[in-house]
Amino acid sequence: MATGRTISASFLTDFDKKIIETCNEISDLIKNTIEDKTQKADFHKQYGKISYTRDGGLGLGGGKLQRDTICTRGRQGKAPYSNRNLRWHPLIVAEQPVSYAKEIERIEIQGEDDEQVLVYIVKINGKEQEFPSDKVHELPERFAALPKHWIEHIDTLKHWNDTLWTQNSCAIPAYEACDWQDSIETYAILAIAVATEYYNIDFKTIYTKVTQLLKDQKIDIKLTLPSKLFPTQKQDIISCPVCKLPLSNDLQQFRTDERIPTWQPAWRPSKKTEGNDGSNQILHVNPLVETEIRHKSNTVRYGHRWCNVAMTDHSLKETIDFMEFIVKAHNRIK
Ligand SMILES: [Zn+2]
Repeated sequence: MATGRTISASFLTDFDKKIIETCNEISDLIKNTIEDKTQKADFHKQYGKISYTRDGGLGLGGGKLQRDTICTRGRQGKAPYSNRNLRWHPLIVAEQPVSYAKEIERIEIQGEDDEQVLVYIVKINGKEQEFPSDKVHELPERFAALPKHWIEHIDTLKHWNDTLWTQNSCAIPAYEACDWQDSIETYAILAIAVATEYYNIDFKTIYTKVTQLLKDQKIDIKLTLPSKLFPTQKQDIISCPVCKLPLSNDLQQFRTDERIPTWQPAWRPSKKTEGNDGSNQILHVNPLVETEIRHKSNTVRYGHRWCNVAMTDHSLKETIDFMEFIVKAHNRIK
């Protein structure tokens, strides 16, 4: 099982750096708007810290905003998945061809024994080029490896051990992928929500500042940001999409019994806040799929943990339909 970091975790192209730099500017903008020193430091530590890596860094690396919006989720297993990588990473694995990536030509396994490396062969301007696993982040555009490309290697890959998978963890699942501008916009949206809800910053002030920063981006001057998808209404940004309550509402009014603490090993740092009903989790209003990019500023929000868990992998609409059914089944309609 691949248990280590993604193979090129510390390698960024100049293009990658520019995108992360823009997220850093958004984070700084918010930090500079927070007047209280303790609050400023808290925002930096919890949310705004930036790690110039593909996987958001380890331990004291990037903050929650970076991990949630610009990095894919941690994945491990007997597969070429990166254990976190940039969402605009150019190599994806998919079950079916996707419109936003070209197909690779083929995969070769080069090297012997513990030195075996997956090499992805792609066509660039009609010419074949080889990209071994530690170089795929340099692909000039997005490519997809499909089931047919793995067929001839299945019998070999079946026997690969942890070490081999770890040194070949270099691709991201298609449904986690997005374009670079989606990463920046989702970073901006969640940053505005957090700033308003947890750090008492005036919504209009920070919204105006952040959108101005997006307008001024120089990564691709042909592209106008914020995009048409970027939300404009305060309620749409700072509320949990499921219960519609503000993110800062911790849902305590729905808990009738006092929560009795459970035993925690005293020698381990406690992760209790992760488990609170009202703690925020990244939520996709429409679940992620392979066939189209859905990690975008119109679907990515923070929601309460309780609400997010209730959705599992369903759309918001399906979730509400199901809840309506449950309420009826219990005769709770007043
Ligand atoms: Zn909620």
